[in-house]
Amino acid sequence: MSRIAIMAAMQEELRALLALMPDEHKQVLGGREFWLGHLHGHEVVLVLSRIGKVAAATTASLLAARFEPSELLFVGVAGGLGPAVKVGDVVVAEDLLQHDLDASPLFPRHEVPLYGRSRFVSDAGMNRRLAAAVQAVLAEAPRHLGASAVAEFGLGAPTLHRGLIVSGDRFVASGAESAALRAELPDALAVEMEGAAVAQVCHDLSLPCAVMRTVSDRADDSAHVDFNAFIREVASAYSAAVVAAYLG
Ligand code: SAH
Repeated sequence: MSRIAIMAAMQEELRALLALMPDEHKQVLGGREFWLGHLHGHEVVLVLSRIGKVAAATTASLLAARFEPSELLFVGVAGGLGPAVKVGDVVVAEDLLQHDLDASPLFPRHEVPLYGRSRFVSDAGMNRRLAAAVQAVLAEAPRHLGASAVAEFGLGAPTLHRGLIVSGDRFVASGAESAALRAELPDALAVEMEGAAVAQVCHDLSLPCAVMRTVSDRADDSAHVDFNAFIREVASAYSAAVVAAYLG
């Protein structure tokens, strides 16, 4: 049976997924803890991505080389950039770009040298299944989160967005910075720190991948407010429920 790889950006998300595994056992490689076992009847390998592009790319490379998964699903949180992308929404990446990569004037801005491209696409089939899983979870958000979290974070009608996610080695936490990103990349829906790096590794290895991010903040001056509480109470519940629906 083929093995599905699941990477989580947040420790709390990983913990919520591990709690669903009846038989997990650990293998350490490159300082990363890889968790092997079953989730909803599927053979899986789970790992914390670590934060930032290099760390996440290293994790993805080790994961792919050592455990040979058939696909890689990456869950985490992100700052909303698109005007309609609000806290509590979920973004499924169609394509991913490194917003801080700039080898101009030798190469066009954002282009990854020697790849001839700036955007890496996720797998269309995985995205379809992932989007359906997200829709099913968001439709019943209060059941997955509890009414108090819905009220605490003002999660009205959480929405799924599909499109561009941009990644860079920077926690974007000012209105000026997010406005600059919006001006430079008008179709970017969300910003985070790992997705595009992992998509590039998957491209190199012909490994189908998909990236889902729960919007934890608006990448503005209040981006850090309630960040940890949100991950604990909302993002971990969403990602565990979405992964369950995806595998189900
Ligand atoms: N307190 C956390 C650190 C989080 S770093 C810890 O100790 O683990 C930020 C994480 O959230 C990264 O995985 C990044 O991808 C994502 N993220 C959420 N909002 C972001 C934003 N506004 N800008 C960049 N990354 C963001």
